[in-house]
Amino acid sequence: MARRKKIYEGKAKILYEGPEPGTLVQYFKDDATAFNAEKRATIDGKGVLNNRLSEFFMSGLNAIGVPTHFIRRLNMREQLIRSVEIIPLEVVIRNVAAGSISKRLGIEEGTALPRPIVEFYYKDDTLGDPLVAEEHVITFGWASQQDLDDMVALGLRVNDFLSGLMMGVGIKLVDFKIEIGRIWEGDYMRLIVADEISPDSCRLWDMKTGQKLDKDVFRRDLGDLADAYTEVAKRLGVLPDQGTVSGPTLVN
Ligand code: 5GP
Repeated sequence: MARRKKIYEGKAKILYEGPEPGTLVQYFKDDATAFNAEKRATIDGKGVLNNRLSEFFMSGLNAIGVPTHFIRRLNMREQLIRSVEIIPLEVVIRNVAAGSISKRLGIEEGTALPRPIVEFYYKDDTLGDPLVAEEHVITFGWASQQDLDDMVALGLRVNDFLSGLMMGVGIKLVDFKIEIGRIWEGDYMRLIVADEISPDSCRLWDMKTGQKLDKDVFRRDLGDLADAYTEVAKRLGVLPDQGTVSGPTLVN
């Protein structure tokens, strides 16, 4: 049997050549990293959960007319996606101060922001993904002014969609990161949401207790990451109530 071609391997995912031109297969690993890969672990079941959750968010976005790379899920760990030219920027949208904005600007974690803030970080591991201004993005040619306007609009639409979805299941969407890619349709270029949307790239706090249900559980050693992600998946109806993907199942 022919071995499929690996296109790219990142910290949490692998991309393989897809079955048709313009497609890729995205494989979700169980690996977790934080602090620019200084902290690493393998978390049983994380890849399965993120594959399911990213499918859930991206297919919902597709359904309301926000274009994403997601085509269909193939199996427990893989999904078929459109191949895009990734813009080398992480787009972070914040509703509540936490993480790096709290550290950088001394704003207490949990402070509600008067309006969502959209930030751009230059994707470069050797530099630690630095925060950049629109001036940098345009001067260094990472994206055009039109791209930036489209990226802000896409980010805010994703924010509205995800915030509402999360609020419906008692979870506050504190912030999240998305990546955006270019696709060409004939002579026209469009920007679409790419990469993944999962608790790896969001901050999710239980609205009643404040319990963290995202990758901060791993970053800050707050408990079992797979349990936190399973809770998010169950509340959203992505897994059946009794479902778990991390532990063995006892069959009588
Ligand atoms: P912060 O800038 O506070 O560290 O992160 C803001 C949000 O973006 C958080 O939800 C965080 O999980 C997400 N984020 C920022 N950088 C990355 C990254 O390199 N990988 C992932 N998975 N998420 C990120």
